[in-house]
Amino acid sequence: MNSQTFFAVSFATWLMIGDASAGFSQKLSVDESKKGEGEIYVKYTLTNTGKEAVDVLKWGTPLEGLRSEALAVQRDGREVPYEGLLSKRGQPSVQSFIRVEAGASVSKTVPLSPSFDLTSAGHYKVITRIAITGGAPGEPGKASKLKPAEQPKQASANFTIKATDKISAPLSRKKQVSAQAYTGCAAGQTSQVEAATKAAGEMATKAKANLSASSASAPSKEYVTWFGVSNSSRYGTVVAHFSAISSTIDGKRLSFNCTPSDCEPDEYAHVFATDPNKMVYLCSAFWSAANVGTNSRAGTVVHETSHFKDVSGTTDKVNGVYVYGQAMCMDLAKRAPDSAITVADCHEYFAEGL
Ligand SMILES: [Zn+2]
Repeated sequence: MNSQTFFAVSFATWLMIGDASAGFSQKLSVDESKKGEGEIYVKYTLTNTGKEAVDVLKWGTPLEGLRSEALAVQRDGREVPYEGLLSKRGQPSVQSFIRVEAGASVSKTVPLSPSFDLTSAGHYKVITRIAITGGAPGEPGKASKLKPAEQPKQASANFTIKATDKISAPLSRKKQVSAQAYTGCAAGQTSQVEAATKAAGEMATKAKANLSASSASAPSKEYVTWFGVSNSSRYGTVVAHFSAISSTIDGKRLSFNCTPSDCEPDEYAHVFATDPNKMVYLCSAFWSAANVGTNSRAGTVVHETSHFKDVSGTTDKVNGVYVYGQAMCMDLAKRAPDSAITVADCHEYFAEGL
């Protein structure tokens, strides 16, 4: 091959890569046809504007239903808090992805009222809080966050609720039927949950001890691993979080449901952050986990407890991306300590490792 031919081939390859650049657009539209039944629906559409198919992670998007803070809602310009599911997930499986061919769209219609309080009259706006995670087809394990330029622009849609509209209350409030400690749990399950809760209380106590034995100016190596560089504000926040997690668990303020109807296959557990009964809905991955250690039953209880708004109010999403697993938490701690202290998994891994 002479140099001229080599240049031509290289240039052609470069052109192909340039053509193959990924990109997405997204759209929201409000479906008010079920208003009479007390529901407002939103249709989410994601379009692949790139030149190649992408396997998109459904987690953290409405493509798997509303199972995280994928959408934000405002009433008359003020944020309406998200009251929907917050869960602990394992690793994504093939089923966690949806293939979006080049030029094609995928969409999903989700009800808004189970996750947001739309019972008051007003002008509402629903906005996406989504960053797409995707990879080449057939390689879901290699999925990585797309470049910022490839991310879809924020989308929004408006709707109006009149005083005469009878929109249903959020699911978290409808579920307040029982304040008993255990719902749908067999005797054997109850004792396993008791063991997990006891170990979770011990984990939270160790976390408090680790934090009080060190300080904002000289944090423990475990603190730095999971929460990153310390300052007095962030350190104080983490101290307050574990104080609240510990008193919630030891004060037996949690309740448990062993047979929830809305689990995903990869899911350990979920809660509704504003639930006054602090019910933890236990899913299949919880039952197959060890009692203590990484991604354990006890750690799951710490994770879920941290989600409650009046405990630590943690999240599973940062800048639209679902944060799961140790690698993502460690990376977040290095890159964005202000965000790491808001993420439930980072609290879990800190406590589990002590
Ligand atoms: Zn979570």
